[in-house]
Amino acid sequence: MIESAALPARTEALVIGAGLSGLACASLLARAGVDVHVVDAADTVGGRVRTDEVQGFLLDRGFQVMLTAYGEVQSQVDLAGLDVRAFRPGSKVWNGEALQTMGDPFRDPGSAVASMRARVGSFGDKLKVASLRRDLLAGPVEACFEGPERSTQEELEALGFSTPFIDTFFRPFLGGVFLERRLETSSSLFRYYFRCFAAGDAVVPARGMQRLPELMALPLAGRITLDARAAEVRTGAVVFGDGTKVEAADVIVAVDGGAAARLLGGAAPDFKATVTSYFAAPHAPVEEPLLVLDGEGTGPVNHLAVMSHVAPAYAPAGMHLVSASGVDEAAEDADAFAAAAPVQLRRWFGASVDRWEHLRTYRIPHALPRHAAGSLATRGGSRRADGLVVAGDYLEFGAIQGALLSGRRAAEAVLAAR
Ligand SMILES: Cc1cc2nc3c(=O)[nH]c(=O)nc-3n(C[C@H](O)[C@H](O)[C@H](O)COP(=O)(O)OP(=O)(O)OC[C@H]3O[C@@H](n4cnc5c(N)ncnc54)[C@H](O)[C@@H]3O)c2cc1C
Repeated sequence: MIESAALPARTEALVIGAGLSGLACASLLARAGVDVHVVDAADTVGGRVRTDEVQGFLLDRGFQVMLTAYGEVQSQVDLAGLDVRAFRPGSKVWNGEALQTMGDPFRDPGSAVASMRARVGSFGDKLKVASLRRDLLAGPVEACFEGPERSTQEELEALGFSTPFIDTFFRPFLGGVFLERRLETSSSLFRYYFRCFAAGDAVVPARGMQRLPELMALPLAGRITLDARAAEVRTGAVVFGDGTKVEAADVIVAVDGGAAARLLGGAAPDFKATVTSYFAAPHAPVEEPLLVLDGEGTGPVNHLAVMSHVAPAYAPAGMHLVSASGVDEAAEDADAFAAAAPVQLRRWFGASVDRWEHLRTYRIPHALPRHAAGSLATRGGSRRADGLVVAGDYLEFGAIQGALLSGRRAAEAVLAAR
């Protein structure tokens, strides 16, 4: 539980936004000895990374995971302190007839035989996955952003993957990562994520994703004011909705792209939406902590996970928590998704789905900024011409890594000017 502190009349650095980018920036400034204060319009920290407790279940506001291979997670996050729990590498894919297991034979050798036998793509496709994995891991992570940028769909075709394999495996898998199934997202991000999934684990904190911002906020105790919405921002001062003014030598605007456009002017980024329904299940529909993918493409569910297999505290003893998510058109209407998801999943798992109890559905309209081909080349930039410093995932790319990286760059811009 984060205690809200009183607003100071003045501070050396004022960070607007206690999402991951703002917390990263403020933590690094505090560690460098800067008198820093953080404000957020919401009632707690975390921004888009929030978890609710409902009937003893832990519901993240939209399915999300952290990748241990993210460079900024390695340098900024105390993974042991978060007590992270890992998904098993690989996935199960519904191919229209049955669930097929697609493991990662390099990190989970026991899955090799099942993966090769899986009726998802051809043997040649699986060899291409292995060779892409080897090539990306052989180079530095920066190389992922150096190749030519095109859409991920074009990249996969150029790499020679068959259309059935793209449709059955890559489309739902990357659809869950990019939150769009058309694979219009920049190929730089495809290379980056593919490398991260090969190099590390997908994890969640044992007691929900919100533990991540809460842990980051701990060293900032007494320096965070909640329920404080910045209404006017200028170099040297910020005015809040109730007219209160805080003076600060450095003002760091670490809000989402939409709020940044409202506060600072300029165009808001285009966002992608997602929807997640949570169900309480007396019996788990799959036995492993694996991602389950809709390779058939009928939707509305694109990806599913039994969260209590990954981290048991997500469900009370004797129960399981099923998370089912949709993207694109499926994310337009939360009620329609919650009603249609069990109908689709009954085909995957049979009549046991009838015993699931719907807990809650989250529709997140502004989940991730869109990153079309060509957009990644111009990412970054913290200090504006007017002296304000900006941070936020939309400046790098929509991910925990992008938010933490932009937060670090903002802190470095402040420190460099001192
Ligand atoms: C459903 C979902 C799934 C995701 N899945 C993944 C995943 O699996 N892996 C991954 O790496 N990333 C994932 N992400 C992305 C990741 O969560 C975000 O990129 C990251 O949290 C963004 O942090 P941020 O600080 O840039 O912005 P935000 O989290 O949006 O924080 C901005 C903060 O600014 C505050 N604010 C806005 N306006 C004002 C104002 N005027 N005054 C004061 N405060 C204000 C807001 O209240 C908010 O707290 C997911 C995101 C969502 C929503």
